[in-house]
Amino acid sequence: MAGIYIHIPFCKKLCHYCDFYHIVSTSNKDAFYEAIIKEASIMKDYAGNEPLSTIYIGGGTPSVCSVKDIATILNHIVKVFPTEETSEITIELNPDDVTSEYLKGLKSLGINRVSMGIQSWRDTDLKMLNRRHDSSVAASALKSVFRAGFENVTIDLIYGIPGMTLSDWESNLDLSFSYDIKHLSAYHLTIEPGTVFGKMRDKNLLSEIEEEDSASQFNMLIEKSETAGFIHYEISNFGREGYFSRHNSNYWKQVPYIGLGPSAHSFNGYSRQWNVSNLKSYIRSVNEGTAYYEKEVLDSRTCFNEYIMTSLRTMWGIDLEYLEMTFEKEGYDYVVNLSTKFKEYGLMKQDKKNLVLTNQGKMISDNIISEFMMPAEE
Ligand code: SF4
Repeated sequence: MAGIYIHIPFCKKLCHYCDFYHIVSTSNKDAFYEAIIKEASIMKDYAGNEPLSTIYIGGGTPSVCSVKDIATILNHIVKVFPTEETSEITIELNPDDVTSEYLKGLKSLGINRVSMGIQSWRDTDLKMLNRRHDSSVAASALKSVFRAGFENVTIDLIYGIPGMTLSDWESNLDLSFSYDIKHLSAYHLTIEPGTVFGKMRDKNLLSEIEEEDSASQFNMLIEKSETAGFIHYEISNFGREGYFSRHNSNYWKQVPYIGLGPSAHSFNGYSRQWNVSNLKSYIRSVNEGTAYYEKEVLDSRTCFNEYIMTSLRTMWGIDLEYLEMTFEKEGYDYVVNLSTKFKEYGLMKQDKKNLVLTNQGKMISDNIISEFMMPAEE
């Protein structure tokens, strides 16, 4: 079942670590909504005619949009795409945009999953990251979300922040699990070129934390979430039984999806396309009917690499039967042979017909995945 992602590019303030496409000016908001609606119609047949099982409104900051504007977009989406009655409909919220009136409005639209960008419960971290909220605003926003009747609630946290000790991270996790959240996404801070942090690193004003500290924080994340009853189902994602993100799980299981808005990506099993990361160009091209995206038709090697890249990050790992069926003997033998050394080092294990990373392997997942990548065909 296909999914839809809608990228709302507006943010009121720019976070120092962020390299998602975002802009502060909202002067093109109305033109953006019109373009999104047009793009939904353009993309109508991209993923076949399967009904939508998930809709994800992300960004950027979707909560800078009014309930009325979100309603306009959602109403159009369900008019254009057949949508399952039981669809998961998620919205990302910034804590300081949350009011009980706003939440009530979102609930009335059928939104049934809330993702709150908490990032840290420590004000020193939040200041350093240049977030808009502080910890007391985050706490009251999260309580309001539960009071409004949302029960499928996920939060985002960041670890590996310079200056964050292991005991700071432990307190962040303890406080998070003291709420009735059903899901947690926890990302290690990466310093990306071109961001404020990237520029600070270039001037030697900031550096990544030591690898040993990263590993301790990741281990603590795995232990604490398990103790709290969460299942580690993807490198950065933890959920209670029955509350894994259906939308993101579909990405990892190669289910087709449509991305609307500047910088959004789409995939239908045969091709992948990505929209221009510039709001004005996006609006202009959608209106003029010219290409607002680049497209890659996927060859078998690219499909193989994408399958390995996404599946190895999850607790389901590489399904050897699927591998043989889809990528024939060549793909199967390549993976099985290469996996031998990782199994010997205790970085991978075979669970029935699936090859999965061990906890030790998860710590260096990027390195292991890159070793499995097949070079492009000549
Ligand atoms: S609110 Fe999110 S998208 Fe906007 S700048 Fe911060 S991290 Fe980036």
